[in-house]
Amino acid sequence: MHKNKNEKFDLSLDTLRHSASHLLAHAVLELFPGTKIGVGPAVEDGFYYDFLREEPFTHEDLKSIEERMKQISDRDIPIEKFLCTKEEAVKLFKDLGQDLKIELIQEKGGKEVSCYRQGDFVDFCLGPHVPSTGVLKHFKLLSVSGAYWKGDERGQQLQRIYGTAFFSEEDLRDHLKMLEEAKKRDHRKLGPELDLFSTNEMLGGGLILWHPKGSAVRTVIEDFWRKEHYKEGYELIYSPHIAKLRVWEISGHTQFYDALYPPLISDNVKYQIKPMNCPFHIMVYQSKQRSYRELPLRWGELGTVYRYERGGVLHGLLRVRGFTQDDAHIFCRSDQLEEEIRRTISMALRMLGTFGFNDFDVYLSTRPEKFSGSVSDWDEATGALEKALNAEKIDFSVDEGEGVFYGPKIDIKIKDALKRSWQCTTIQLDFNLPEKFDLSYVGEDGGFHRPFMIHRALLGSLERFFGILIEHYNGNFPFWLAPVQTIIIPIADRHNPYVSQLNQELKKKEIRTAVDSRREKVGYKIRDAEKSKVPIILLVGDKEIEDKTVSVRIHKKGDKGQFEFKELLEKMLNFNKNKDLEIIL
Ligand SMILES: [Zn+2]
Ligand SMILES: [Zn+2]
Repeated sequence: MHKNKNEKFDLSLDTLRHSASHLLAHAVLELFPGTKIGVGPAVEDGFYYDFLREEPFTHEDLKSIEERMKQISDRDIPIEKFLCTKEEAVKLFKDLGQDLKIELIQEKGGKEVSCYRQGDFVDFCLGPHVPSTGVLKHFKLLSVSGAYWKGDERGQQLQRIYGTAFFSEEDLRDHLKMLEEAKKRDHRKLGPELDLFSTNEMLGGGLILWHPKGSAVRTVIEDFWRKEHYKEGYELIYSPHIAKLRVWEISGHTQFYDALYPPLISDNVKYQIKPMNCPFHIMVYQSKQRSYRELPLRWGELGTVYRYERGGVLHGLLRVRGFTQDDAHIFCRSDQLEEEIRRTISMALRMLGTFGFNDFDVYLSTRPEKFSGSVSDWDEATGALEKALNAEKIDFSVDEGEGVFYGPKIDIKIKDALKRSWQCTTIQLDFNLPEKFDLSYVGEDGGFHRPFMIHRALLGSLERFFGILIEHYNGNFPFWLAPVQTIIIPIADRHNPYVSQLNQELKKKEIRTAVDSRREKVGYKIRDAEKSKVPIILLVGDKEIEDKTVSVRIHKKGDKGQFEFKELLEKMLNFNKNKDLEIIL
């Protein structure tokens, strides 16, 4: 997070938060002498510091640490940088009893070592920092959790204290309010409550069980996805879940990709469970000689992949070990590149917009220091990405040097209802795999040419996207996405036959419907339906049967009066067809 490495004092939010992490460590050392300190960077939305200490930090401890941080801030101690030799730095931290720091200095320190001091507190650190502790006023400690020294699970177990800091009290308050709201709509809480999905330790962490209701939503998403792809001239394919290890040696995954599961061995041949779908699509390409006339080829697959993630980082649907990418690969000629990128961007924005996401940040990442392919290829491709973005009139930021080694890319981050950013779409050019697998097509000139390859996922993965949707809507899915779209409640038992008739009619029209014929009071059933966030509740009694109507309640909006059943059904079909986000009767 040391984004700004120059010596100039530069008060970015990252700098402020990094300084707040020093303040945290300073306070901990004053209150709990003998604690050993690890690392303390700024992170997205805040900062943390890692500590090695026998006893766990309690909630009460966090309060007193925060109190002490305020005191140190009031002392307004200057924060000063100083340089020393590696030997001097090692001696300094030895005297302070900070073994972990010594380890870091030995590993990362050059001849000259950069340190920061504020009063008695010293840290091995590149900075930059705020000029004095008094600058830090608006901060809050949030939580403590386990962490491993250098992220290594065989390493020492540390305690990580998280906090956040802002320039103003108002910003801090807004952020804390947002965190409160986010906690309420946490998909890990709503998932089981609404019976959407679960995980199971017996099964293994990071592997998702999609319950019938979650699967119903997924089916709607998948059906929409497929239709959109056919409309855009894609063809859809299926590929296996394992392939010989050799494939992944050629693709470079065994060398460069550290999330591979260990290979399986069968008949003395090693097989690899797939972390990506790309090589399979490449092999479909290679199944015959391709001609320039066939290009572009656009092949999509809802491809399930498996990647190893450390247990500690798994997080509900957002960080998992098995997931289904809404993947596709486009093979095209260089003269088609810009148009293909353009189409992909507008398709992504259209699809995300249909789900209710209309607020985006777009990033273009350019050539990193280590790259494959030629500089001229990179320039041509990066130019095409830029032209495509401009042609679509999209504001974007350039992440200089942040491209992946195999090509430049465009990332689209959506903003949810709480203004949180989520990376969904990624569109990546690849100079590496076509080379590695020696892909070619016969050009108009009769010679062999290498096609361009584009990897792209629009939603990201179905698991992650579902998690984002749940939180964005707080479980109140729009009608077209809701797992159960309408529930019919008979007022008395004698209304059951008519209700099941309506139920059948709705099902025939592919409305996801249920009947609550339990012998409970109507009010109780309505409350239950509201709790499970069913968008439309239908009540049927004597009067409704006589008039061929239903009484309609909209979730969170209440009673809407009687509607002719046929007329209401027509409206529901329209909500589905138009993918409306609001129910307006
Ligand atoms: Zn630091
Ligand atoms: Zn790919």
